[in-house]
Amino acid sequence: MAKNGILETAKHNLEKTAEKLGADSNLLNKIATPKEKIEIRLSPVLSDGKVVNIEAYIVRHSDVLGPSKGGIRMSPDVTMDDIVGLSMEMTWKTSLIGVPFGGGKSGIKFDATSLSDIDKETIIRSFARNARRHFGPELYVPAPDMGTNEADMGHVRDCVSYSDGISITKGCFVTGKPVILGGIPGRRSATGKGVVYTTVAACKKLGIDVKGMSVVLQGFGNVGSEAARELARQGAKVIAISDISGGLLNEDGIDVEDLVSYVAQNGSIGGYTKATHIAKEEIFGIACDCLIPAASGSQITMANVNNIKTKIIAEAANAPTTPDADKILTDNGVFIIPDILCNAGGVFVSYLEYVQETQHEQITEAQVSARLSERMKVSFDKVYELSIAKKISMRESAMQIALKRVSEGINARGLLP
Ligand code: NAD
Repeated sequence: MAKNGILETAKHNLEKTAEKLGADSNLLNKIATPKEKIEIRLSPVLSDGKVVNIEAYIVRHSDVLGPSKGGIRMSPDVTMDDIVGLSMEMTWKTSLIGVPFGGGKSGIKFDATSLSDIDKETIIRSFARNARRHFGPELYVPAPDMGTNEADMGHVRDCVSYSDGISITKGCFVTGKPVILGGIPGRRSATGKGVVYTTVAACKKLGIDVKGMSVVLQGFGNVGSEAARELARQGAKVIAISDISGGLLNEDGIDVEDLVSYVAQNGSIGGYTKATHIAKEEIFGIACDCLIPAASGSQITMANVNNIKTKIIAEAANAPTTPDADKILTDNGVFIIPDILCNAGGVFVSYLEYVQETQHEQITEAQVSARLSERMKVSFDKVYELSIAKKISMRESAMQIALKRVSEGINARGLLP
């Protein structure tokens, strides 16, 4: 296992929480490792006529509280260990936010950024075809994650219905689909908005005015850009943003909508002229009120933690902070909104999409918005109140609430084979 990797962080968080709660060993044996790990070789033929071998992974960590839920990550660096760690995180996230799902995750080890649309569709379809028997409304329901998007989920849905020879799927096999195919309005922005709802709730507790608050963001994909847009709408000043191509700094505030349009046309923030260019590694050294890691895991580490000057860290990404860096930040009084709370808006709205599809309902954008904001605030308050009552960090509090619910589920089911 990679030192400071996502799996190491996930295991550390589980072990620490189980110890604090005095969880029994039967319980730990049920959840310390995944229920199912699947490794698949994809061999699609790309547009240059060559067969390419690609490793893909599906992990179902838990289905105690419902079907395993978690996105498909497409990245050249993703490993089976990452997918195990991320699937564990999904178990705690779905439990904490109170939706009837367990934790799962998929990975496709390939660089999505270098692909033409047609080659990406070919790889996604190859994955969906090969993974078909592991998907299902009662089994595992994927969604977008880093490197995949709404259009890809449309192809996954098409592969499932195509393989059955029917127009629709029997129940919800994938969330985060285009609205025209049964996706839910507001899913694309749900994770980013949820990040902002929890950030605003934290600001209220800390006496920080969101209007004029300075924000720094790492990552400007789905989650980062939507969080930046919502923060700008609420009057915050986004002063620095990075993506894989580099970083931008403008102490007077970056025009987020203008940058979103620029990235839609140019593919990345590189070359944008209305801010000073900085190296992407400099992003964590910029003083701000709120820092939002919204890229990949293990980004805030012992190598950069001492450069960080912020009051709040809103963990939009999954497992962005390694345990040793987390301890230093917590000791320094930084208020960290942990990933399993901060970015849970996406899976909450995925649950609404699941309900819509399985019950043949139609849920409007206004309903999605109201339910998302209410659920994020209620969940934040629960975590905050326990953290105050027990004098523990927000991460410990969130993990304790999540693990308790999963334990209750295991006990309610019973420990028979
Ligand atoms: P995305 O692929 O849309 O965007 C990722 C962004 O991060 C891109 O802008 C990319 O350039 C940037 N990036 C990658 N490496 C970087 C680096 N080293 N430095 C700076 N920027 C870098 O992915 P996303 O869907 O926005 O997901 C971002 C994070 O949020 C991931 O950790 C993901 O697991 C988490 N998350 C996503 C969702 C969702 O609904 N999409 C839900 C919960 C959590």
